[in-house]
Amino acid sequence: MNVNPPIVGAIELGGTKVLAAIGTGPGDGILARERFATGDDPARTLGAVIEWLRAQASRTGRMQAIGIASFGPLDLDPASPTHGFITTTPKHGWARTDVLAPFRRAFPALPIALDTDVNGAAIGEGRWGAAQGLDDFVYVTVGTGIGGGAIVRGKPVHGLVHPEMGHIPMPRAEGDAFPGACRIHGRCWEGLCAGPAIAARAGCPAEELDADDPAWDAVTASMGHALATITLMLSPRRIIIGGSVRKAGRLGEDRFFERCRVSLERSLAGYVYSPVLSGDGLRSFVVPPRLGDDAGVCGAMAMALASAG
Ligand code: ZN
Repeated sequence: MNVNPPIVGAIELGGTKVLAAIGTGPGDGILARERFATGDDPARTLGAVIEWLRAQASRTGRMQAIGIASFGPLDLDPASPTHGFITTTPKHGWARTDVLAPFRRAFPALPIALDTDVNGAAIGEGRWGAAQGLDDFVYVTVGTGIGGGAIVRGKPVHGLVHPEMGHIPMPRAEGDAFPGACRIHGRCWEGLCAGPAIAARAGCPAEELDADDPAWDAVTASMGHALATITLMLSPRRIIIGGSVRKAGRLGEDRFFERCRVSLERSLAGYVYSPVLSGDGLRSFVVPPRLGDDAGVCGAMAMALASAG
């Protein structure tokens, strides 16, 4: 075992908060962490994060790389003139923000890895969490928004831009008049299952809903459709669902997952055969993150470790 693992910096840049950490891995490997409000002034927020990271780097004396897992959409094409930019976000003040350059200027000697928050979380779960040993899996976050990171043959999928799984179109359940809450598409996955969508449908936040509220039926049915789409498109060996909605208030995380699995099986309707896609097998196919709410920041750490070599 390596007794002197590299120390790296990690930043999870989210829509409401930024988590920064320095360390070698999850749990006790996190030597220090700090939380910042994302706010609407990127220069100020990123400046505060950089200042904190610089202080930690000088305290530990050997920070070797930095990983940034950010909300998007992001330009991840190294050949693009806007590589490292958040591009079209509705998040006030952050559209067309270069998130990479301020870190490059502040830490010119260090490798700096940038990827989407969900790709970061996927990489972290692959290295230390619920997808260890798997080369093909998907990490989905269902919270204020919905996003998914796909790992295929051990690498995160970027493609032309990067996947935006949260905005896949969804079928309308018979008799369901809810118009959806996505500003762009109405009834996409995010428009039906993200926290604000559940609150819009039910008239109160998800955590206050009763366990038998019919909104949970609608949400878990839609979750099943979306998980089926992912399963059919990417053939992952596992799907990890992180984010706050999975905790499901009074329904509880265990029952939320059970309902999502049943709904996934119903949506697949037996078309794809695998023992893990039916009955109890689904308990190892649709799972919560093992790194819990640290999946994102640990993912940024894993990205940094990979870039440190
Ligand atoms: Zn949408």
